[in-house]
Amino acid sequence: MNNKPVAIITGGSRGIGAATAKLLGEKGYRICVNYRRDEAAANAVVNDLKACGASAIAVQANIAKEEDTLRLFEIIDRDLGPVTALVNNAGILLPQMRVEDMAASRINEILETNVTGTFLCCREAVKRMSTKHGGCGGSIVNVSSAASRIGAAGEYVDYAASKGAVDTLTRGLALEVAAEGIRVNCVRPGFIYTRMHADGGEPDRVARLADSIPLKRGGTPEEVANAIFWLLSDDASYSTGSFIDLAGGR
Ligand code: NAP
Repeated sequence: MNNKPVAIITGGSRGIGAATAKLLGEKGYRICVNYRRDEAAANAVVNDLKACGASAIAVQANIAKEEDTLRLFEIIDRDLGPVTALVNNAGILLPQMRVEDMAASRINEILETNVTGTFLCCREAVKRMSTKHGGCGGSIVNVSSAASRIGAAGEYVDYAASKGAVDTLTRGLALEVAAEGIRVNCVRPGFIYTRMHADGGEPDRVARLADSIPLKRGGTPEEVANAIFWLLSDDASYSTGSFIDLAGGR
């Protein structure tokens, strides 16, 4: 073990999570790339990090499952040391539909990953970071969405509502642990070129909406990663419970 900070990026195998893992690795963090299913993609991110000289591991865990999340943090304790930075990036959306067509199983699937999973990771991180529990402090960044402000009508109000919960979690947890050495902040991306939109049934959604965005284009995962890195860093030492919107002005 050494004194380098340890970061876990949930859902770090692709998209915004992979860009964040790569940036944090370049900046000297030891990295845990968490993923749910795609082992090859997670290993590719880890191999890129190692090629740059960073320490990195990939750990499969479905953050919606409590036993998986407990195992994830135990592996990090053992292999990298106590986590000092948590990026709650893992999130899902499901095919676009109106609220009146949503089954309970679909709504719960969204909430279990986007809300329960994010809570569980915060809980495990706070246990390790909080000075109240003998930790040395740390920094948490939650990845919410512009959808929490916009509502995603006709597309996925369930997803938007789950991100509203992430916003409230950010504010509440930030206040709860502010005096214990932990800062909790949030980014709210929108219209980022990743594969997530294919999961919503519209792979080219960002291109369709580009003209309605004040900056007239979609964003890149790297643009979101830059904000996450800043919020985690000591340069943001007086920011907690705060939000950075990365949605081209929407
Ligand atoms: P993405 O390309 O779809 O990647 C999602 C990542 O999350 C994958 O690594 C996936 O792993 C992982 N994941 C999903 N469910 C998981 C679970 N239960 N446990 C552990 N890992 C899980 O997504 P993205 O577009 O980069 O989005 C990342 C975050 O940004 C999400 O929270 C999303 O809501 C938010 N966001 C994205 C946009 C956008 O325009 N793209 C806009 C606003 C907010 P596997 O591939 O192994 O399943």
